[in-house]
Amino acid sequence: MMPESAMDIVRCPSCEGAGWYADDESDESLTCDWCGGVGYVYRDLEGVDHRIPPADYDRLTPTLERLETERLRELGYSGNAKKPWEQDIRKGTHGGVNPYESE
Ligand SMILES: [Zn+2]
Repeated sequence: MMPESAMDIVRCPSCEGAGWYADDESDESLTCDWCGGVGYVYRDLEGVDHRIPPADYDRLTPTLERLETERLRELGYSGNAKKPWEQDIRKGTHGGVNPYESE
C-alpha cells in the first residue's frame, strides 16, 4: 500500500467528476460505481485509480470543493449552483417546477 501522500486526486474517468451518470436505457441517474459517487478518485504513481474511502472525505473536503469549482467553471457555470428547477434530477418533482414560469 502506497502512502497517501503519493496519491493524486483526479477527476473520475468514468463519470467525469459528476459522481453519477445517466443510464442509456432507462434514462435514470445512476451513482457512479467507479468513484462511489464522489466524482474523484485517488491515482497512484503507477496510474492506477482507487476509490476514495468515506473515512477520507472530511479530510479531503477542501480539495474536493476546489476541484469541483474548477470543474463547474470548465462546464461554463459562473460559480453559482444550478437552480433547483434546472436540475434534471428534480424533473417531475415539486422542486422541478420553475416558479417564475408564466402562470
Ligand atoms: Zn465516477
